[in-house]
Amino acid sequence: MNNKKNKTLSQILRIIKVFKKQGKKIVTYNGSFDILHLGHLKAIKEAKKQGDILIILLNTDESIRMYKGLHHPINQENSRLEMLACLDDVDYIVTFDDINPLEILSKIQPNIHCNGSDWGKSCIERSVVEKHGGKIHILNWQNGFSTSNLIKNILSAYSRPEVKAIFLDRDGTINIPRKDYVQKVDHFRFATGALNALKKLSQADYKIIIITNQSGIGRKVFKENELKKIHQYMALEVKKSGGRIDAIYYCPHHPNDNCNCRKPKIGMFLKAVKDFNINLSKSWFIGDDQKDVVAGRYANIKTIKLGEKMPAHLKLKPNYYAKNLIKAVKIITNEK
Ligand SMILES: [Mg+2]
Ligand SMILES: [Zn+2]
Repeated sequence: MNNKKNKTLSQILRIIKVFKKQGKKIVTYNGSFDILHLGHLKAIKEAKKQGDILIILLNTDESIRMYKGLHHPINQENSRLEMLACLDDVDYIVTFDDINPLEILSKIQPNIHCNGSDWGKSCIERSVVEKHGGKIHILNWQNGFSTSNLIKNILSAYSRPEVKAIFLDRDGTINIPRKDYVQKVDHFRFATGALNALKKLSQADYKIIIITNQSGIGRKVFKENELKKIHQYMALEVKKSGGRIDAIYYCPHHPNDNCNCRKPKIGMFLKAVKDFNINLSKSWFIGDDQKDVVAGRYANIKTIKLGEKMPAHLKLKPNYYAKNLIKAVKIITNEK
């Protein structure tokens, strides 16, 4: 890596000589800066304020392994160097290969050496820094910010099982749509292969969730109670054929109500995320309407459009097209 702030020890010694002649105060601060966090940034800002030139003494990968074990470093030396070099408060970076900075400090002889509060005044650097007329500055350590805390948080987040979902539109996806709305149980006809497709989906590791606009309620064509009966019937038939539906979300509103749930708005998806802790980016949405494609894309879900391709004037495209639900299930179970 070619970085203007990165210097070898002999280079930095020459640079320091010039600065010291000009009466500038040299500040040093050492560490591994493995996963850069807010605690580091605040510490570096404070360190820079102690003088004119801030030199970061950065542990090499090898020296980190020696004192933190083989799990570290997480970020390689070059990445750590480049990230530090991006910080305005950092003037120079010198890497060193020991598990403590005593030798390099004895050569640089800083005016101020900064240290975290963990060892406070009795830090091992004190005698070598003071021997050359320098001072130790103890930084106000930011509680709660540490690489080990970050790693603990990451591990606990990843130890929870991840929930993925397959969201399905209803009319035109699971059942045959009607111009005059599916108003009652007698109107409900499963699309060809839909029950079989739902059975296959139930064997994959996904929640199965239906997301459907039912503006027939808002338009006063049928009552919410009738919709519930239709959904009971649908769920029962799916169950009888070996499938499963984990949840059904519907928007009962009239398009003019300007609600947050009617697709292509994504309110119903967000409600499902809250209820089931779903990771949308690993989930799927299958629907037959362009509203479904827009909603899926806006919700960052992998989207499959059933039936014909989109009209050319629409800019948003689904991830896949599929002729019917069975074909869509094949796409999902192949990709995983
Ligand atoms: Mg539909
Ligand atoms: Zn709504």
